[in-house]
Amino acid sequence: MSIVLHGFGLGGGIAIGKAYVLNKDLNDVAELSLDETELEHEIKRFEDALIETRKELEHLRNTIPSGAPAELGAFLSLSIMMINDSQISKAPIELIKEYSCNAEWALKKQTEVLSRQFDEMEDEYLKERKNDVVQVIERIFKNLSGNDFDWECGGKLEKGILVTKDLSPVDLVHFKESKFAGFVTDFGSMTSHTAIVGRNLDIPAAVGVGNATQLIYDDELIIIDGQQGVVIINPDSLVLNEYKKLKKSFQDSRQKLRAIRKSETVSVDGVKVDLFANIEVPSDVEDVKYNNADGVGLFRSEFLFLSNDGHFATEEQQFDAYCEVAKAMKKNPVTIRTADLGADKNPAWNLAHGKSDNPALGLTGIRLSLAEQSFFKTQLRAILRASNYGTLQVMFPMISSAWELKQAIHQLDLVKEELREEGIPFDEDMKVGSMIEVPAAALSIKGILDLVDFISIGTNDLIQYLLAIDRCDESVNYLYDPLHPSVIKLLNHIIKSADKENVPVSMCGELAGNMKLTRLLLGIGLRKFSMYSSNLLHVKNVIMNTNISELETLVAKIVKSENREKIYELVEKLNEGI
Ligand code: PEP
Ligand code: MG
Repeated sequence: MSIVLHGFGLGGGIAIGKAYVLNKDLNDVAELSLDETELEHEIKRFEDALIETRKELEHLRNTIPSGAPAELGAFLSLSIMMINDSQISKAPIELIKEYSCNAEWALKKQTEVLSRQFDEMEDEYLKERKNDVVQVIERIFKNLSGNDFDWECGGKLEKGILVTKDLSPVDLVHFKESKFAGFVTDFGSMTSHTAIVGRNLDIPAAVGVGNATQLIYDDELIIIDGQQGVVIINPDSLVLNEYKKLKKSFQDSRQKLRAIRKSETVSVDGVKVDLFANIEVPSDVEDVKYNNADGVGLFRSEFLFLSNDGHFATEEQQFDAYCEVAKAMKKNPVTIRTADLGADKNPAWNLAHGKSDNPALGLTGIRLSLAEQSFFKTQLRAILRASNYGTLQVMFPMISSAWELKQAIHQLDLVKEELREEGIPFDEDMKVGSMIEVPAAALSIKGILDLVDFISIGTNDLIQYLLAIDRCDESVNYLYDPLHPSVIKLLNHIIKSADKENVPVSMCGELAGNMKLTRLLLGIGLRKFSMYSSNLLHVKNVIMNTNISELETLVAKIVKSENREKIYELVEKLNEGI
């Protein structure tokens, strides 16, 4: 039977392939019927998972921090005893033999048996121990199924479609190395960093699809429509053929766009526009160059610190990464944003800071860098040293006031002084910029403009804070509205203020790459756009087919209006012909 699911599309066209379902928990496990010859291997897998879990728990018991509650040691010892109990260590093996089934299924069956026994107990204290047992079993299950996914997965998964509960932004950086044709997640919102990095991959994807991991089974044929956010499980031949045609036409139109790769980005009335690219890791530069971007408008350097193993990039590693990009882009500017960590980009070493009830309003971006001075200075040293090898610019994230920006610039000056004393060369004229993504900074922008060489508008956070909607919370996604009158008015205010002070202004948030908004932004006065490379030619095509001087009247009406329907109607009119 064919089933259709809906989520948020991240673009990338259409993918048709077999599902590879990951991240299941114990409840999602399916029974597999194994061959007699496979049972020995299955039992060994289960025994290895037991050994691994025992090791983990022993390690935890041996490294209990001082000051931890005394019960913790006793609890961990008890957990280790549970693993050794035959109900957990032996019964699943008997089930594997009896039913010729997979180890996960056997563990699930045994968990159900144990759960029932606990539920039937009269003693409340003993009844509550059920959770302790389930926790231990879940640990075994994780070791059994493998937590660490092999992103460089072999040919078997080529052109397959990954279906998983969720992916972190870092997972998606690994995704670049994999051979999947697309991905589907249960969770995820449109403007989370997962979605942003996902779009950058330029492969068909849908996030926030609900219970995809429950409804899709391994090896089932699925279609992802990345434009519409639609996922079709087991399509019938009619639907399949229709999507094959759509896929072909998407590929053809993309091929056509390639013809403008080398053309100058100039509007019909001769206005030159700069198109920059957003990158996360140095290897993204390949696409930047292929699409002939004018430079890198946003290097999200925090991805250098987000490795899963909890270690963060040293000065040398950072220097190498920045140099690689600087050299590859030659004379074209490369804007390195200092680490914008916190909220949904929280490295393992920062988890202590991350324990905030409201992380998006907590110690993120420049706040974290200013609180962790040696970390910040190390990054500034690496950027300054690399500035000697190309045209680097530095930019600070999450600035909320001129005085906060002054503190960041002060740290930069201190590091420059250090380098001068050490005789280490750097670009003395390296440009310094500020992100404008906190409404307070946008409203009191004059003080900021006085301190910088350029600004860049981060519309993802600007909209989040202006409209009070957590960008990672899919339940408020419906409120995310780039055409909200307040958003348009604030963008207009930022761009006009920067123009007045002769400070170059670019936009590096998602709106810059949305071709439905290109004309509106041009009309407001934006002349520098930075976006993921895959969108660059779409936006360029719109610019090359736009007469900016003809936008004026309509755009003025849009900026003035507070009527949502009217704004949508006028923007549609503005976009006629594209
Ligand atoms: C933004 O907020 O618009 C932005 C570009 O930064 P990030 O998405 O990395 O927070
Ligand atoms: Mg931001």
